[in-house]
Amino acid sequence: MPSLNMEGPYRFDIKTINEKVTRVSPGNFVLGRKNENGAFLFTYIGRAFTDLNSKLKFWIDKKDKPLFKFRYCVTAQDAFDNECENYHDFVKGGKAKHPRRPASTDWQCPRCNFYN
Ligand SMILES: [Zn+2]
Repeated sequence: MPSLNMEGPYRFDIKTINEKVTRVSPGNFVLGRKNENGAFLFTYIGRAFTDLNSKLKFWIDKKDKPLFKFRYCVTAQDAFDNECENYHDFVKGGKAKHPRRPASTDWQCPRCNFYN
């Protein structure tokens, strides 16, 4: 099984985000819940190119999920690459669209030729 390689899950609220996501950094996150067996299920994959803490808070009012996981990335492009990897490992074939790169970049998906 592929792994998200993220910390958590943690409660998806402002207090917990501030406690856990303390660095201003690019990063990746997922939002989800636990099922009746206690397994974490995520239904949203996201990324932040500059500030993961702020990006998580942006989603609080828009996604009704109780839990999140995250990881920091060194660069924005790392966050994009990881988002693509997570998409291909966990989402492809579902209704979610392929991750989008910033319009000002020529980044390539590490797993497919979406941008060729
Ligand atoms: Zn791809």
